Order: sequence, then C-alpha cells, then structure tokens
Amino acid sequence: MLDLGLIGYPLTHTLSPVLHGFLLQALGISGRYRPYEIAPEQLLTQLDALQAQGLRGWNVTIPHKVDVIPWLDWCSPEAALIGAVNTIVLEPDSAQNEPRKKGYNTDITGFVRSLPVNILDQLTEATILMLGAGGSARAVLAGLIQQHTKKIVIAARDEKKAQALLQDAETITLHFQATTQLAYTTLDALPCLEPFYAVINTTPIGMWPNTDVSLLTVTQLQTLPTEGFVYDLIYRPLQTRLLQEADALGLQTINGLDMLLLQGVAALELWQSQPVPESLLPALRQHVLSALETSQPAS
Ligand code: NAP
Repeated sequence: MLDLGLIGYPLTHTLSPVLHGFLLQALGISGRYRPYEIAPEQLLTQLDALQAQGLRGWNVTIPHKVDVIPWLDWCSPEAALIGAVNTIVLEPDSAQNEPRKKGYNTDITGFVRSLPVNILDQLTEATILMLGAGGSARAVLAGLIQQHTKKIVIAARDEKKAQALLQDAETITLHFQATTQLAYTTLDALPCLEPFYAVINTTPIGMWPNTDVSLLTVTQLQTLPTEGFVYDLIYRPLQTRLLQEADALGLQTINGLDMLLLQGVAALELWQSQPVPESLLPALRQHVLSALETSQPAS
C-alpha cells in the first residue's frame, strides 16, 4: 500500500488528491493520497507523525516549502539551490531502522516538461521576461537556467526580493554550468517587449476571483515578436486575461495546467522510482480539467 499525501496550510481547492488518485488508479497501484492540513507551529511534530504512520512520501505546499528542509536527511541540489522542497520521499534504508528523508523540487521538472519542444529548442538563443520574484519564480528561473536560456530579465515590484533571487540565480547558473545572463527591471519600465522571445507570468495577477486584470496591456503585448509566446502559471482560470489578449494577437500561449500535472507526475515517479507513461497524460489532463471545472467557483 503506497500511502501518500500533501501538507500545507490552509489546504483549500487543492487538485493534488484528484491528480494522484487518478494516477494511482490508472497505474494499478494500491495506494492513497490524502491532504493533511498542518499549522506552521505543528510542522515538525506532524512530520514525525506522518513518518510514524508509515507514509512513503508527500507533497509540500505553502507555507512549508522552506521550513521542511531542516527535517530532511538529504535535499536534492536543485531544491537546495532554490531553497524550496515540494516533494518528500521516505526511502527505506536497509542499514538503518529509519528511512532516509529526502527532499526534491518537482516544480522545476514540471515547468521544464510543460514547455513544447519548439520552445525548448529556442531557449539557448532566447531572452525571457519573467514577471514576479516569489516562490514559483524560483522554480521557473531554475528551469530556464537548467535549459541554458540565453538571458532572463526579472520584472518585479519588490526590487530587494528580485535582487535576492538574482543573487541565488548566479549560484544556480554555476550549478548547471550555464552562461545565462540575468537582469532586473521595474514593472513600469516595460513599454516595449520587442527584445523578448517570451513573457512568463509567475504572479497571481489574473487569478480567480480577480480575473479581469493583467500586468501587461494589449499595447505592450503587441510589441512582442509574433513568434514569441506568453506563459501564465495560473490555472484558475485556464485562460487568464493575459492569455486571452495574447491569444487574440495570435501569440502562442501556455497556461499553468500542464506544469501542475507534470510536477505531480514527477513526484509520483520519485515515490515509485519508475517513469509514468506519457500515454496517460491526455486522460490525466481531462480528469483534472473536469475537477477544475466542477470545483471552479462562479465568479
Ligand atoms: P508568491 O510566492 O506569493 O509570489 C508572487 C509574486 O507575485 C511575488 O513576486 C509578488 O510580489 C508578486 N505580486 C503579487 N501581487 C502583485 C501585484 N499586484 N503586482 C505586482 N506583483 C505582484 O506566489 P507563488 O507561489 O509564486 O504563486 C504565484 C502564482 O503562480 C499563483 O497564481 C499560483 O497559483 C501559480 N502557481 C502555479 C503553479 C503551477 O503548477 N501551474 C505552481 C506554483 C504557483 P511581492 O513579493 O512584492 O508581493
């Protein structure tokens, strides 16, 4: 019995149990995946309790992605570099009574796997504009550097946060032996997007219930090269205002659904130590989409 779960606080509207419930059933794995709402002050005792209950692993979401790290025996270099763990694996250790507690970040894998091949092929020559400097920006940045993106410009309202992120990005660049150039700009200083191949929104601007807003105007989007693309990490709604407007201009667009699915797939691959067949993805996408539609509160 593969006992899995998700920890976070609060845990409302999470799609992870739906996603993993589908995968376990489709793969014929006897297992379960349950949410555990854990308040920050109880984190360490509850992590021990989950281990004592025999869980094989669990996902970690806000606000615990950083605070679980001291509890672990080992952290993957990528998770350590971005300072956030979203997947814990308890690996049986034959030499010890206790399993090894290992931490990973599958948001990076999920983001990279969500990029179509035509885009991945362009990254070494591309300049990418990232909007935001929060938690998901760290995973996106690491993914872009891992793919040896030529240049990344971060536009964020909090310059201190963006500069701290860029400082960590220098270490990530060394780790991946990349030569990615890194820069910061204010959100106000973006009249023309012509130098960019793509814009990636990592902020919650446009997310339900405030869906009628976008960080970029149509006039700004019109300056993006026609072969460029716009990626919005938001998946509630699937078509944010930013994506609707980019789509209307004929630009390639990507929403946050595939990243969500693929970080989950990558987590199950770690728990199971074997790949999930790609052929399952269309049915998984359909299943999660249906859950998203039925759980989507009317705006
Ligand atoms: P976060 O850590 O809170 O970071 C949000 C970022 O957006 C911060 O840089 C924040 O700036 C900025 N921001 C917030 N409001 C802003 C505003 N009004 N104007 C300018 N910048 C603003 O959040 P997160 O975890 O990165 O999540 C961000 C979004 O990504 C959410 O919509 C989430 O659902 C989505 N997401 C999707 C996936 C996926 O798998 N598809 C994975 C993770 C996250 P300050 O620091 O100044 O507040």
